[in-house]
Amino acid sequence: TARAQGPPASADGARRAQAEPGPHEARIQALLGRMTVDEKLGQLQQLAWTGATGPGGGQTAAAEKAARRGRLGSVLNIYGARTTNTLQRMAVEKSRLGIPLIFGLDVIHGMWTTFPIPLAQAAAFDPAVAERDAEVSAKEARSNGVHWAFSPMMDVTHEPRWGRIAEGGGEDPYLTAALAAAKTRGYQGEDLSSRHRLAACAKHMIAYGGVEGGRDYNTVDVSEARLRNLYLPPFKAAVDAGVATVMAGFNTVSGVPAHGYRHALTEILKEEWAFTGFVVSDYDGVEEMIVHGYAADRADAARLAFDAGIDMEMASTTLNEYGKRLLRSGRITTAHLDEAVARVLRLKFRLGLFDHPYADEHTAIAGPTKASRAAARAAAARTMVLLKNEKSTLPLGRSGSIAVVGPFADSTDLRGSWAGTWAEAYPPVTVLDAVKDAAPKAHISHERGVAASGRNTRGIARAVSAARATDVTVVVAGEAATLSGEAAVRSDLGLPGAQEKLISAIADTGAPFVVVLLSGRPLTMEGWLDRTPAVLQAWHPGIEGGNAIADVLFGTVNPGGKLPVTFPRTVGQIPLYYNHENTGRPYDPHNHYTSGYLDLVNGPQFPFGHGLSYTTFDIGEPRLSVSRVRAEALRKGDTVEVAVPVRNTGRRRGDEVVQLYIRDPVASIVQPVRRLSGFRRVSLGAGQATTVRFRLSAEELGFWTQDPHGRFLLQKGEIQVFAGNSSRAHQKRILTII
Ligand code: BGC
Repeated sequence: TARAQGPPASADGARRAQAEPGPHEARIQALLGRMTVDEKLGQLQQLAWTGATGPGGGQTAAAEKAARRGRLGSVLNIYGARTTNTLQRMAVEKSRLGIPLIFGLDVIHGMWTTFPIPLAQAAAFDPAVAERDAEVSAKEARSNGVHWAFSPMMDVTHEPRWGRIAEGGGEDPYLTAALAAAKTRGYQGEDLSSRHRLAACAKHMIAYGGVEGGRDYNTVDVSEARLRNLYLPPFKAAVDAGVATVMAGFNTVSGVPAHGYRHALTEILKEEWAFTGFVVSDYDGVEEMIVHGYAADRADAARLAFDAGIDMEMASTTLNEYGKRLLRSGRITTAHLDEAVARVLRLKFRLGLFDHPYADEHTAIAGPTKASRAAARAAAARTMVLLKNEKSTLPLGRSGSIAVVGPFADSTDLRGSWAGTWAEAYPPVTVLDAVKDAAPKAHISHERGVAASGRNTRGIARAVSAARATDVTVVVAGEAATLSGEAAVRSDLGLPGAQEKLISAIADTGAPFVVVLLSGRPLTMEGWLDRTPAVLQAWHPGIEGGNAIADVLFGTVNPGGKLPVTFPRTVGQIPLYYNHENTGRPYDPHNHYTSGYLDLVNGPQFPFGHGLSYTTFDIGEPRLSVSRVRAEALRKGDTVEVAVPVRNTGRRRGDEVVQLYIRDPVASIVQPVRRLSGFRRVSLGAGQATTVRFRLSAEELGFWTQDPHGRFLLQKGEIQVFAGNSSRAHQKRILTII
């Protein structure tokens, strides 16, 4: 019942990746034929090995018991070859049918080798960074008995207050979709049974990033058009890339908890996109439907979630407890139960667990390696965004004297959210150590000045003296990892504690200085940006964060990252995003951030796509392969080529991200003023030029309507095509669809 008329190319992609359930169907059916109802329900249960807080808690004893009885499908929060093998043996050797367990873990941006947070990876505007992270993660985790990563997270959001912005790709569906596909490929590779691969999990379906006020787990009210144009594209891209599993969200969607939202989990995902993997609930999310005020009791929650399309229940145990009763009363069917179990078994076969259920205890990767560290360092350096650089403050020289100050100067709190307690054994390289290492001949002094969040200002004087006594000062400021991520919501996006006072005091000295910002989200800089000559956005850069920052500060790496999210001037402007609609009364026709406030300079502090380099680039006019194209031809798969010339006009090698945006100025649903439709990061030597070629297909040129059954429209008329190096791209051409 695939009712929706999707864009031609991607619909084909979905079918290619998903329609063939694979070679294991006969074995799956044979197993199903031998399973009792209890064993079937057991496959749909996932328990937590170690206790996350909350009602589910640690379920170790229950997991062991259920594994032995063949009444458990999966365990989360578990790793280690020996630990997983011990439990796996209970399932494989003690249970009646010997069906192996799947072990899942939140390997979000690295297992031992912590890569930069996903939002930072988005800033690289280079999906290869995300793919590499996933490859390294997969190797480390799989060798330690983990089969399944609860990643990539792909919740597009307009809410920098929401702590989970750190986990995703930012505000743009096209960029997030590219990352979702890359990360899925990186985890899964070609063959999930490989000892270097993990099953991926696209999460959280759907529209979790729309939570009101950025408050976690909150309400979302979303139109069908926005659902399909903004929130679904990354999930579609992951499904096209063959993602093995999908996780539901904690939010409500237009009055229905996402765990009960059949429209997304079944009608779109399983029917329209022909997804053959399985859907896992989020931790206790099934049972939470009672608290939402949607399910009457636990039996009702089980039925509603199962009906909606949840196949495996994480932590809460409603389906296992009430499944038999629901079957007996006809409220769920055996056919549906078998289908859900088949989805879970299919992944177990794809992972090769029936043939190789155990991890090799002798070859388990025990920690980061030289190669994995080098990969993390290169990745982190690629994610850094040079926000401002007046008077060529950066790059720094390696001689003379440098003061490294600020609460994060000598801090190992560089990993960011979801780095996992397991990674704590491998503390990141600090900025101070890395600066000393990179400039062995320079005289380096150090003062914290203030704490990361305390209000005490007594140390500022010493930091000021250090700044006065040196050629240049590096202030390492930002927010601690605990301030972003799940449930870590902020109402104020300024630097915490007395950090802004520290920066102001350094600025007062008039001596040159640079601010390195560590954060899991956009921060506001109103109080100090004007008086600060240079700012480097370094996100939460991971285990090699200090080294990567030093690489950029000293110019070993020329920064080329771009913002994957708009940086507002002040919290009061939120939501502020580049791909908004126009009002009928644009506040300022030259500024595409339209409606204004009386009491501030309107528009963002830094727009989406912004990022400087130590060199300069010139991006020329885009050239179209044709200026008119038939809608019919596009529907059949034709594309229009857009060629964009770019030249390094400066004196050193550097990277530029050539960005392509389109606007459909007249449409039956008001379209965003700009929509990212292509990007490419290129590296050019001094004076070097190249031409970047993009292809626009129906997928980029059309849009989804409000039709509840999903209708994709490619309308005739003009499309404006812009090229540039940020969402302010101004080079323009017109493409006419006839
Ligand atoms: C998060 C998920 C995560 C799960 C398992 C939940 O609280 O929302 O993203 O995968 O916990 O740890």
